[in-house]
Amino acid sequence: MQCFNCWETGHRKHRCKNDRKCRVCKQTGYAPGSSECKHYVDPTNSGDVIAFQGKSYPLYNFYPCHLNVFGEKHKTMEEHAYQMTKAIRAGDLEAAKKVIEAGTALDAKRIGHTVKDPQGWHKEKETVMEEIVSAKVEQIPKVKAKLENSNSSTIFAEGTFDMQWGTGLDVDATLHTDHKMWP
Ligand SMILES: [Zn+2]
Ligand SMILES: [Zn+2]
Repeated sequence: MQCFNCWETGHRKHRCKNDRKCRVCKQTGYAPGSSECKHYVDPTNSGDVIAFQGKSYPLYNFYPCHLNVFGEKHKTMEEHAYQMTKAIRAGDLEAAKKVIEAGTALDAKRIGHTVKDPQGWHKEKETVMEEIVSAKVEQIPKVKAKLENSNSSTIFAEGTFDMQWGTGLDVDATLHTDHKMWP
């Protein structure tokens, strides 16, 4: 258990009595990504880093697009494909159906979260995601172009507190802190 406010272990954010602490430099009073942080970088001058978050970024997993993956039966978005696969592997076909019908990526994600992880999912989910992302690169020209123009930049998903797929520092930290200084 780790607190998302002060980063100490043993309690959660809603019970935290400490001041907010920057996760990168450990100073109190501001979040990582704030210009007060000594690792702050001006995002317009950090050309070696490409961070993405939000539906307007083609690399983002909620980017609206249609993909053909895992057979041609379903036209789906990245998040839909992932949550659908998880539900099917878990044997929860009702949830899988709901995922397919979900109007937005966020809905798909919420439904997916109600499904218990199938056995061995922690080992398999990266392979599943890789297949989906490969399909996205092949099928969506904007995604392909984005990657081809990235040269040797470091690319990462700006996912707040997402330790699995994102960077996990804080909502602004990736854009505004030097990634070489991350904890
Ligand atoms: Zn705390
Ligand atoms: Zn800091």
